Amino acid sequence: MSGVCIFCKIIRGEIPSMKIFESEKTYAFLDIGPLSRGHSLIIPKHHGAKLHDIPDDQLSELLAVTKKIALAQGVENYNVLQNNGRIAHQEVDHVHFHLIPKPNETQGLGIEWPTQ
Ligand code: 5GP
Repeated sequence: MSGVCIFCKIIRGEIPSMKIFESEKTYAFLDIGPLSRGHSLIIPKHHGAKLHDIPDDQLSELLAVTKKIALAQGVENYNVLQNNGRIAHQEVDHVHFHLIPKPNETQGLGIEWPTQ
């Protein structure tokens, strides 16, 4: 855990988030600036800045949780995105996968996603 990292603060509950999944090692929540409805972030609880900072078993769990959330959302068209480094558009230095449903994909399914 990092004292200054905003995602570590979210995991600790010091910054509020719309949690959608939590396990011993993984946390998932809605993105505060969603690119589409249901845009979520899947992160390891153990702090690591970039993909190469996290062990393989944690990486497997992050992807498995990403898949689980997509299934739970009922979306079939979506992007999974993971940025490393400023030039690659990483803003938050705590490893995270974006799960981004394509626009309109979650509309009309009777699911009301919370807005932040
Ligand atoms: P990056 O550009 O690092 O891949 O993505 C960081 C993401 O974190 C952005 O999509 C941004 O909207 C999201 N984000 C930044 N701060 C917060 C926050 O405090 N709460 C939530 N829920 N998302 C955040």
